[in-house]
Amino acid sequence: MSVITRGIDTSARAILASDYMWSWWLNVVDDLGWTPTIVQGAWMSRVPGGGAKDSAGYHDKGGCFDLRTWDLTPTRLDQLVRVLREHGAAAWRRDQTHGGMDPHLHFVLGTDADLAPGAAQQWRDYQAGLDGLASRGKDYEWRPNPLVLKPPEDDMPYTKDELIAIVRAAVKAELAEGKPQGSDLTRDELDKRTYKASVEARDMLKAKK
Ligand SMILES: [Zn+2]
Repeated sequence: MSVITRGIDTSARAILASDYMWSWWLNVVDDLGWTPTIVQGAWMSRVPGGGAKDSAGYHDKGGCFDLRTWDLTPTRLDQLVRVLREHGAAAWRRDQTHGGMDPHLHFVLGTDADLAPGAAQQWRDYQAGLDGLASRGKDYEWRPNPLVLKPPEDDMPYTKDELIAIVRAAVKAELAEGKPQGSDLTRDELDKRTYKASVEARDMLKAKK
């Protein structure tokens, strides 16, 4: 399993995810029909400065992303929770009343390897009908029936080579339309473009399959 940078988050930190999780994420984005903003990725223990204090180490290893919610309509927010859960992740809106946090959406992809202890606990909480908070309340989001604990089979169409090809195509496309040879692009600029472009390049690859 290789964990590499997939882009940069809203605090200019690297978004890390395994090949497995990133494949899954591209399928989620495809199903949504729009691209959520990632405010924190997984494997934050490998990112300089580490994870957000509120996150209590959940993002230190695999499976966890935080998404921006303040710019989404209620309809899109509901859709986001539903689609993430239909694809096999435990997803919750967090805010002052739910966890005493700034508004965002936190999710755990339970089948990613491997989860930090807190994230693994949240995954068990989800299966037990709980909200994944320390206060152990009841789940307050829509729940699939039956619960989806494994991503649907057709969610995983990408091999490692294909994922590399996606990123290469994305970077190439961005360089072609951007600055000459990219020599004056910083690593951060390139990473930011890669996330956006890899979502776009995904459609090209899908069309070829
Ligand atoms: Zn989180």
